Amino acid sequence: MPKKIDFLVVGSGIAGLTFATKASAYGKVLVLTKKRKADSNTNYAQGGIAAVFSPKDSFKLHINDTLKTGAGLCHKDVVEMMVKKGPVLVKELYNMGCRFSLNSDGEFALGQEGGHSRRRIVHARDHTGQEIERVLLEEIKEKGISLSENEVVLDLITIDGECRGVYFLNTNNKEIDVIYANAVILATGGAGQLYLHTTNPPIATGDGIAMAYRAGAKIANMEFVQFHPTAVYNINIDGRAFLISEAVRGEGGILKTKDGKPFMKRYSPAGDLAPRDIVARACVMEMIKSKSKYVLLDLSHLKTGFIKKRFPMIYEICLEWGIDITREPIPVVPAAHYICGGIMVNSWAESSIKKLFALGECAFTGVHGANRLASNSLLEALVFATRAAERMQRITDVKPPKRTKTQPVKTGPNLKFAIKEMMVQYLNVIRSEKGLKKAKQMVEGYEKAFEPGIHIINAESCNMTDVAKLIILSALQRKESRGLHYLLEYPKPNPSFTHDTVIAKNGQ
Ligand SMILES: Cc1cc2nc3c(=O)[nH]c(=O)nc-3n(C[C@H](O)[C@H](O)[C@H](O)COP(=O)(O)OP(=O)(O)OC[C@H]3O[C@@H](n4cnc5c(N)ncnc54)[C@H](O)[C@@H]3O)c2cc1C
Repeated sequence: MPKKIDFLVVGSGIAGLTFATKASAYGKVLVLTKKRKADSNTNYAQGGIAAVFSPKDSFKLHINDTLKTGAGLCHKDVVEMMVKKGPVLVKELYNMGCRFSLNSDGEFALGQEGGHSRRRIVHARDHTGQEIERVLLEEIKEKGISLSENEVVLDLITIDGECRGVYFLNTNNKEIDVIYANAVILATGGAGQLYLHTTNPPIATGDGIAMAYRAGAKIANMEFVQFHPTAVYNINIDGRAFLISEAVRGEGGILKTKDGKPFMKRYSPAGDLAPRDIVARACVMEMIKSKSKYVLLDLSHLKTGFIKKRFPMIYEICLEWGIDITREPIPVVPAAHYICGGIMVNSWAESSIKKLFALGECAFTGVHGANRLASNSLLEALVFATRAAERMQRITDVKPPKRTKTQPVKTGPNLKFAIKEMMVQYLNVIRSEKGLKKAKQMVEGYEKAFEPGIHIINAESCNMTDVAKLIILSALQRKESRGLHYLLEYPKPNPSFTHDTVIAKNGQ
């Protein structure tokens, strides 16, 4: 392992890998990743990437759908930039070898998802993320970019207000080391593992957000946790709930109560294709009303051949668990899926700390507002990773310091399950101010349990505690219901509360 590198990337999902392939034109890149290289949220993305390709579509429509779903909090200029850059970058992935599904004319077969007024989801059947991850990893290999697995980045090294490197732990030999860099790029993904039921794999413990917060970076809009309405009830694979893509409803799947009655039209004129916040809340309301632990998602009225061709992975996995989706409905529940908030960055992915960049799900760029439009996250990662890579042309060389203080990461008990239970009880789809205050007290207690030292499980517990605190503090600031944040005491949006909630450790 070198002691110094030009660009150090933390994370090997779409954001980190896209950046690495492009920034390698301007200097030496090293990617550190905490488990195996393909262990990422990216690898599980089913639906696809939103981009304007259809002659019936336009940038204006995609921008409007994004803004509408974001419930008044999207940063319009950034949304416009992202949407306009989308088609070229998606085409680039295709040219790199991504086997996106095509129609009989050889054009992208475009899927439909909730909140989109047109078909615009480019996909590779129902395993789009896996296909993207495969192609990007091949590109990394082809370009000779260094990538090291089982390296858990623990904390950032900041000197004179600049990020200069990271502390990391090699989980094979248990050694902690430092590496310096001219720029550090956090692409550590989401934080779904803070919840008991999540579609995210075990890597998603919010590490990058916690590290950036501890280093003093600004963190924004953490209250907006997106719950996917349809994860299979009681089925866990490798530590995550199995997701039934929104594309299933896009192709005609219908949500029903346990006794078989469709209910979405009662909650939104868009019915089953309403934005995710509305659908997830509707599912929870129906579960409460019928005292049921799940609702049903029915696609058995669609043609068997079509289901098997369009959703091969969903069909196979459900069948393994004894559910034949061509004949019977799937029991589903909402599960934590995506965090809209994160490390605050500008349109070049620069954080509030010099030489620290953040990309993908761990970043807050302003594009998602109070609710992410389906399939905009892969797009966001692609666009901002490309912009950040372009920025590397301006990064100056800095000499590593002679000595660095011992790393400040803390150790303590494994609090993962305590945190998951707390989040499910008090920071779920429906919240109350009383519950948020209780959660704040609990998390302050957990914080006291950590002392200097290091152990991987506890490093993740420590990060989860910090991220839970950020979600709670942001949720307490937002005394209204907007997008994904629904507060019983304030059930409506407050028209004068249209700003982001920003938190920084040093209070700036
Ligand atoms: C089941 C599922 C389906 C989805 N479907 C879609 C979809 O159809 N369309 C869409 O747009 N979005 C979808 N999403 C969301 C989207 O997949 C993610 O937002 C996106 O892939 C995030 O990419 P990323 O590169 O930011 O992070 P990730 O892909 O999660 O990668 C994060 C990387 O960081 C590494 N890492 C984390 N912490 C550390 C650390 N401390 N040290 C070293 N490495 C670390 C991880 O190991 C991993 O390699 C879906 C998400 C899930 C879970």
